[in-house]
Amino acid sequence: MSLLRQGIELVIEELRQLQSRADLRYDRTILDRIGQLRALVALETARTEEQAVAAESISVPMPTVTVKLSNREKFRQLQQAALACRKCPHLVAFRHQVVFGVGNPDAELMFVGEAPGADEDLQGEPFVGRAGELLTRIIQTMGFSRQEVYIANVLKCRPDMPSGKSGNRPPTAEEMATCLPYLREQIALIEPKLMVALGGVAMRGLLGVDQPMKSLRGRWHQFAGIPVMPTFHPSYLLRNQSLTEKRKVWEDMLLVLERLGRPITERQRNFFLSKS
Ligand code: URA
Repeated sequence: MSLLRQGIELVIEELRQLQSRADLRYDRTILDRIGQLRALVALETARTEEQAVAAESISVPMPTVTVKLSNREKFRQLQQAALACRKCPHLVAFRHQVVFGVGNPDAELMFVGEAPGADEDLQGEPFVGRAGELLTRIIQTMGFSRQEVYIANVLKCRPDMPSGKSGNRPPTAEEMATCLPYLREQIALIEPKLMVALGGVAMRGLLGVDQPMKSLRGRWHQFAGIPVMPTFHPSYLLRNQSLTEKRKVWEDMLLVLERLGRPITERQRNFFLSKS
Protein backbone atom coordinates (compact mmCIF):
# COMPACT_ATOMS: atom_id res chain seq x y z
CA MET A 1 0.00 0.00 0.00
CA SER A 2 1.40 3.44 -0.91
CA LEU A 3 2.17 6.00 1.79
CA LEU A 4 -0.56 8.26 0.40
CA ARG A 5 -3.08 5.41 0.58
CA GLN A 6 -2.01 4.58 4.15
CA GLY A 7 -2.49 8.23 5.14
CA ILE A 8 -5.93 8.30 3.57
CA GLU A 9 -6.94 5.05 5.27
CA LEU A 10 -5.88 6.62 8.58
CA VAL A 11 -8.04 9.68 7.94
CA ILE A 12 -11.03 7.51 7.01
CA GLU A 13 -10.50 5.36 10.12
CA GLU A 14 -10.30 8.46 12.34
CA LEU A 15 -13.52 9.82 10.87
CA ARG A 16 -15.14 6.42 11.39
CA GLN A 17 -14.11 6.43 15.04
CA LEU A 18 -15.47 9.95 15.45
CA GLN A 19 -18.80 8.74 14.08
CA SER A 20 -19.02 6.00 16.66
CA ARG A 21 -18.20 8.28 19.64
CA ALA A 22 -21.00 8.10 22.17
CA ASP A 23 -20.81 11.83 22.95
CA LEU A 24 -21.40 12.73 19.27
CA ARG A 25 -24.21 10.23 18.75
CA TYR A 26 -27.01 12.73 19.16
CA ASP A 27 -25.39 15.63 17.32
CA ARG A 28 -26.87 15.05 13.92
CA THR A 29 -25.20 18.07 12.29
CA ILE A 30 -21.69 16.93 13.25
CA LEU A 31 -22.42 13.30 12.34
CA ASP A 32 -23.82 14.33 8.97
CA ARG A 33 -20.73 16.47 8.34
CA ILE A 34 -18.37 13.63 9.31
CA GLY A 35 -20.32 11.28 7.04
CA GLN A 36 -20.04 13.76 4.15
CA LEU A 37 -16.29 14.11 4.78
CA ARG A 38 -15.82 10.33 4.74
CA ALA A 39 -17.74 9.98 1.49
CA LEU A 40 -15.77 12.87 0.00
CA VAL A 41 -12.39 11.44 1.02
CA ALA A 42 -13.36 8.02 -0.39
CA LEU A 43 -14.56 9.51 -3.69
CA GLU A 44 -11.54 11.79 -4.10
CA THR A 45 -9.18 8.90 -3.31
CA ALA A 46 -10.80 6.74 -5.97
CA ARG A 47 -10.57 9.65 -8.45
CA THR A 48 -6.85 10.27 -7.66
CA GLU A 49 -6.03 6.58 -7.95
CA GLU A 50 -7.91 6.32 -11.20
CA GLN A 51 -6.00 9.32 -12.62
CA ALA A 52 -2.73 7.66 -11.59
CA VAL A 53 -3.73 4.44 -13.36
CA ALA A 54 -4.85 6.42 -16.42
CA ALA A 55 -1.50 8.24 -16.53
CA GLU A 56 0.32 4.90 -16.35
CA SER A 57 -1.86 3.35 -19.02
CA ILE A 58 -0.99 6.09 -21.56
CA SER A 59 2.34 4.43 -22.34
CA VAL A 60 0.78 0.93 -22.40
CA PRO A 61 -2.46 1.18 -24.38
CA MET A 62 -4.54 -1.84 -23.40
CA PRO A 63 -8.25 -1.90 -24.29
CA THR A 64 -9.16 -3.88 -21.14
CA VAL A 65 -7.79 -1.08 -18.94
CA THR A 66 -10.15 1.37 -20.62
CA VAL A 67 -13.12 -0.90 -19.87
CA LYS A 68 -12.11 -1.19 -16.19
CA LEU A 69 -11.68 2.57 -15.86
CA SER A 70 -15.08 3.32 -17.26
CA ASN A 71 -16.55 0.77 -14.87
CA ARG A 72 -14.92 2.66 -11.97
CA GLU A 73 -16.43 5.88 -13.25
CA LYS A 74 -19.84 4.23 -13.57
CA PHE A 75 -19.48 2.87 -10.05
CA ARG A 76 -18.72 6.33 -8.70
CA GLN A 77 -21.69 7.81 -10.53
CA LEU A 78 -23.92 5.05 -9.19
CA GLN A 79 -22.71 5.80 -5.66
CA GLN A 80 -23.41 9.49 -6.12
CA ALA A 81 -26.91 8.73 -7.43
CA ALA A 82 -27.63 6.44 -4.45
CA LEU A 83 -26.31 8.99 -1.95
CA ALA A 84 -28.68 11.58 -3.38
CA CYS A 85 -31.66 9.19 -3.73
CA ARG A 86 -35.02 10.47 -2.46
CA LYS A 87 -37.31 7.73 -3.82
CA CYS A 88 -38.65 6.74 -0.38
CA PRO A 89 -39.57 10.00 1.42
CA HIS A 90 -40.20 8.23 4.76
CA LEU A 91 -36.67 6.75 4.71
CA VAL A 92 -35.10 10.04 3.54
CA ALA A 93 -36.70 11.80 6.52
CA PHE A 94 -35.40 9.18 8.94
CA ARG A 95 -31.92 8.38 7.66
CA HIS A 96 -28.64 9.95 8.73
CA GLN A 97 -26.78 8.53 5.77
CA VAL A 98 -27.29 6.38 2.72
CA VAL A 99 -25.29 3.18 3.20
CA PHE A 100 -24.10 2.38 -0.31
CA GLY A 101 -21.60 -0.42 0.30
CA VAL A 102 -17.97 -0.98 1.19
CA GLY A 103 -14.99 -2.89 -0.12
CA ASN A 104 -13.31 -3.70 -3.37
CA PRO A 105 -15.35 -2.75 -6.48
CA ASP A 106 -13.47 -5.54 -8.31
CA ALA A 107 -14.14 -8.14 -5.61
CA GLU A 108 -14.59 -11.79 -6.56
CA LEU A 109 -16.81 -12.31 -3.53
CA MET A 110 -19.74 -10.16 -2.47
CA PHE A 111 -21.88 -10.33 0.67
CA VAL A 112 -25.44 -9.00 0.58
CA GLY A 113 -27.43 -8.20 3.71
CA GLU A 114 -30.90 -6.80 4.18
CA ALA A 115 -30.66 -3.16 5.32
CA PRO A 116 -28.57 -0.86 7.50
CA GLY A 117 -29.31 -0.82 11.21
CA ALA A 118 -28.81 2.06 13.63
CA ASP A 119 -24.99 1.75 13.73
CA GLU A 120 -24.67 1.49 9.97
CA ASP A 121 -26.98 4.49 9.49
CA LEU A 122 -24.76 6.59 11.76
CA GLN A 123 -21.47 5.43 10.27
CA GLY A 124 -22.49 5.19 6.61
CA GLU A 125 -21.02 1.69 6.29
CA PRO A 126 -22.75 -1.72 6.15
CA PHE A 127 -22.26 -4.31 8.88
CA VAL A 128 -20.39 -2.27 11.49
CA GLY A 129 -22.53 -3.17 14.53
CA ARG A 130 -22.39 -6.45 16.47
CA ALA A 131 -23.62 -8.50 13.51
CA GLY A 132 -21.00 -6.71 11.42
CA GLU A 133 -18.23 -7.68 13.81
CA LEU A 134 -19.27 -11.30 13.48
CA LEU A 135 -19.46 -11.04 9.69
CA THR A 136 -15.97 -9.52 9.66
CA ARG A 137 -14.67 -12.48 11.70
CA ILE A 138 -16.31 -14.92 9.26
CA ILE A 139 -14.73 -13.10 6.29
CA GLN A 140 -11.32 -13.12 7.97
CA THR A 141 -11.58 -16.80 8.90
CA MET A 142 -12.27 -17.47 5.23
CA GLY A 143 -8.90 -15.86 4.50
CA PHE A 144 -10.12 -12.49 3.19
CA SER A 145 -10.01 -8.99 4.61
CA ARG A 146 -13.08 -6.74 4.64
CA GLN A 147 -11.36 -4.55 2.03
CA GLU A 148 -10.90 -7.48 -0.38
CA VAL A 149 -14.58 -8.44 -0.60
CA TYR A 150 -17.57 -6.19 -1.24
CA ILE A 151 -20.37 -5.78 1.30
CA ALA A 152 -23.75 -4.23 0.51
CA ASN A 153 -27.39 -4.41 1.47
CA VAL A 154 -30.55 -4.78 -0.59
CA LEU A 155 -31.90 -1.58 1.00
CA LYS A 156 -29.49 1.35 1.20
CA CYS A 157 -31.33 3.33 3.91
CA ARG A 158 -32.19 2.32 7.46
CA PRO A 159 -35.87 1.30 7.72
CA ASP A 160 -37.65 3.97 9.76
CA MET A 161 -38.93 3.28 13.26
CA PRO A 162 -41.84 4.91 15.10
CA SER A 163 -40.62 7.91 17.08
CA GLY A 164 -39.28 6.98 20.50
CA LYS A 165 -38.74 3.35 19.48
CA SER A 166 -35.22 1.99 19.29
CA GLY A 167 -34.09 -1.11 17.41
CA ASN A 168 -34.44 -2.03 13.78
CA ARG A 169 -37.17 -3.43 11.59
CA PRO A 170 -36.83 -5.52 8.42
CA PRO A 171 -37.35 -3.70 5.13
CA THR A 172 -40.70 -4.14 3.38
CA ALA A 173 -41.00 -5.87 0.01
CA GLU A 174 -41.89 -2.52 -1.58
CA GLU A 175 -38.86 -0.73 -0.09
CA MET A 176 -36.56 -3.51 -1.33
CA ALA A 177 -38.10 -3.49 -4.81
CA THR A 178 -37.63 0.29 -5.03
CA CYS A 179 -33.97 0.05 -4.01
CA LEU A 180 -33.04 -3.14 -5.89
CA PRO A 181 -31.93 -1.36 -9.10
CA TYR A 182 -28.98 0.15 -7.17
CA LEU A 183 -27.84 -3.29 -5.98
CA ARG A 184 -28.46 -4.80 -9.40
CA GLU A 185 -26.21 -2.15 -10.98
CA GLN A 186 -23.58 -2.56 -8.23
CA ILE A 187 -23.46 -6.29 -8.94
CA ALA A 188 -23.31 -5.74 -12.70
CA LEU A 189 -20.30 -3.43 -12.27
CA ILE A 190 -18.45 -5.48 -9.66
CA GLU A 191 -19.11 -8.75 -11.52
CA PRO A 192 -18.31 -10.93 -8.48
CA LYS A 193 -17.65 -14.60 -9.13
CA LEU A 194 -19.92 -15.51 -6.21
CA MET A 195 -22.30 -13.89 -3.79
CA VAL A 196 -23.42 -14.76 -0.27
CA ALA A 197 -26.94 -13.73 0.72
CA LEU A 198 -27.13 -13.09 4.46
CA GLY A 199 -30.51 -14.16 5.76
CA GLY A 200 -33.98 -14.82 4.44
CA VAL A 201 -34.86 -11.14 3.95
CA ALA A 202 -31.85 -10.64 1.67
CA MET A 203 -32.91 -13.73 -0.31
CA ARG A 204 -36.44 -12.33 -0.62
CA GLY A 205 -35.13 -8.96 -1.77
CA LEU A 206 -32.63 -10.43 -4.21
CA LEU A 207 -34.44 -13.42 -5.66
CA GLY A 208 -38.02 -13.09 -4.49
CA VAL A 209 -37.84 -16.51 -2.83
CA ASP A 210 -39.74 -16.72 0.41
CA GLN A 211 -38.68 -19.93 2.11
CA PRO A 212 -37.13 -20.69 5.48
CA MET A 213 -33.37 -20.34 5.43
CA LYS A 214 -32.92 -23.90 6.62
CA SER A 215 -34.32 -25.13 3.29
CA LEU A 216 -32.39 -22.57 1.20
CA ARG A 217 -28.89 -22.70 2.67
CA GLY A 218 -26.20 -25.11 1.56
CA ARG A 219 -27.45 -25.01 -2.05
CA TRP A 220 -26.47 -22.73 -4.92
CA HIS A 221 -28.97 -20.27 -6.32
CA GLN A 222 -28.46 -17.68 -9.07
CA PHE A 223 -28.88 -13.94 -9.46
CA ALA A 224 -28.24 -12.49 -12.93
CA GLY A 225 -26.15 -15.55 -13.78
CA ILE A 226 -24.02 -15.25 -10.62
CA PRO A 227 -24.05 -18.15 -8.13
CA VAL A 228 -25.53 -17.14 -4.77
CA MET A 229 -25.04 -19.07 -1.52
CA PRO A 230 -27.69 -18.21 1.07
CA THR A 231 -26.77 -18.57 4.70
CA PHE A 232 -28.04 -17.50 8.10
CA HIS A 233 -27.76 -13.80 8.92
CA PRO A 234 -25.03 -13.07 11.52
CA SER A 235 -27.72 -11.58 13.81
CA TYR A 236 -29.33 -15.01 13.90
CA LEU A 237 -26.04 -16.50 15.10
CA LEU A 238 -25.84 -13.82 17.79
CA ARG A 239 -29.31 -14.75 18.99
CA ASN A 240 -28.71 -18.48 18.65
CA GLN A 241 -25.27 -19.25 20.03
CA SER A 242 -25.35 -23.00 19.31
CA LEU A 243 -22.23 -24.45 17.66
CA THR A 244 -24.44 -26.49 15.32
CA GLU A 245 -25.86 -23.32 13.74
CA LYS A 246 -22.41 -21.70 13.52
CA ARG A 247 -21.07 -24.83 11.84
CA LYS A 248 -23.89 -24.65 9.25
CA VAL A 249 -22.85 -21.13 8.27
CA TRP A 250 -19.25 -22.25 8.17
CA GLU A 251 -20.14 -25.21 5.92
CA ASP A 252 -21.80 -22.74 3.53
CA MET A 253 -18.60 -20.67 3.55
CA LEU A 254 -16.51 -23.77 2.82
CA LEU A 255 -18.69 -24.35 -0.27
CA VAL A 256 -18.00 -20.75 -1.27
CA LEU A 257 -14.23 -21.18 -0.83
CA GLU A 258 -14.30 -24.44 -2.79
CA ARG A 259 -16.21 -22.87 -5.68
CA LEU A 260 -13.80 -19.93 -5.71
CA GLY A 261 -10.95 -22.43 -5.98
CA ARG A 262 -9.34 -21.12 -2.79
CA PRO A 263 -7.12 -23.52 -0.82
CA ILE A 264 -8.76 -24.70 2.41
CA THR A 265 -6.56 -25.47 5.40
CA GLU A 266 -7.17 -28.35 7.81
CA ARG A 267 -7.96 -25.82 10.50
CA GLN A 268 -10.56 -24.15 8.29
CA ARG A 269 -12.08 -27.46 7.30
CA ASN A 270 -12.48 -28.50 10.94
CA PHE A 271 -13.68 -25.18 12.30
CA PHE A 272 -16.46 -25.62 14.88
CA LEU A 273 -16.00 -29.39 14.67
CA SER A 274 -13.05 -29.51 17.05
CA LYS A 275 -14.95 -27.28 19.48
CA SER A 276 -18.17 -29.31 19.64
N1 URA B 1 -27.82 -6.21 9.05
C1 URA B 1 -27.85 -6.11 7.70
O1 URA B 1 -28.53 -6.88 7.04
N2 URA B 1 -27.10 -5.19 7.14
C2 URA B 1 -26.31 -4.36 7.82
O2 URA B 1 -25.62 -3.53 7.20
C3 URA B 1 -26.29 -4.47 9.22
C4 URA B 1 -27.05 -5.41 9.82
